[in-house]
Amino acid sequence: MVTITNVGGAPGGEAFLLETEGKTALVDSGFAYSAPRMIANIKDVLRGRPLDYVLLTHSHYDHASGSAYVRAAWPDVTVAGSAYAKKILEKPSARAVMREMNDNAARIAGADGYEDRTDRLHIDLAMAEGDEIDLGPAKLRVIEAPGHTKCCIAFWCGEEKLLLSCETLGVDAGGGVVMPCYMVGYALAMESVGKLAALGAEKILTPHRGLLEGEACAAFIENAVYWNTEFMRRAEEGMRAGKGEAELAREFKELFYTPYMAEVQPEKAFDLNLSYTIPMLVREIDQGIGNK
Ligand SMILES: [Zn+2]
Repeated sequence: MVTITNVGGAPGGEAFLLETEGKTALVDSGFAYSAPRMIANIKDVLRGRPLDYVLLTHSHYDHASGSAYVRAAWPDVTVAGSAYAKKILEKPSARAVMREMNDNAARIAGADGYEDRTDRLHIDLAMAEGDEIDLGPAKLRVIEAPGHTKCCIAFWCGEEKLLLSCETLGVDAGGGVVMPCYMVGYALAMESVGKLAALGAEKILTPHRGLLEGEACAAFIENAVYWNTEFMRRAEEGMRAGKGEAELAREFKELFYTPYMAEVQPEKAFDLNLSYTIPMLVREIDQGIGNK
């Protein structure tokens, strides 16, 4: 039995604590500024049990930053992520973007003055498709799921039909709308979504939102597929009608940057992601990829 608790230190910096009888693991680790609160939340739940793993679904600042603070609190913790994420976290240019985005999130929350540990970000265990994390009674199998970033991975717990999803599957924008999170490839993301959908999950831990169970799982996947393909369709139609990237970006933002989404994603971060998303769609439409 895996129990899951949201221990995030701030909205948008969600992190989920997994506990089995054998081991404990944190899925994602939130912003830098919210890490002290998150660590206090983890300690409240663990009551002296060690934290064995941090599992990073990808290298973005709102998922990976807290891991540097977790390591100070639990020096024996193993931080796991994809080999690609490991490389990215060591790049000075990626660290500079993370620092800037963390500063922005902290400023919005009125929490500037936090300790910057970006230079200590490090993945100990580089994982690839099929690798396993052993949580005792539950095993987590790595599923590479690129599309949001190239470094995205999900984890599958067959014993519980539990999918620890990543943003390639999209993020709930409220009202049945799932925001497409494809940034590096539409075809790539759709392939990953198909792979995750085929697992037949009965529980899905979704980034920023938490655990879905039963029928909500199939509904989420259906909505994710719908909105992924629907925005691609609108982009293709828009381009045929002579719309430019700026107009497509405006339409994307109008659809998906809902007040509910704004609660978990600063506008600056949304805009940064969008600055990759639209050119990627245009590129793939030009290449003849899309719904046709
Ligand atoms: Zn992300």
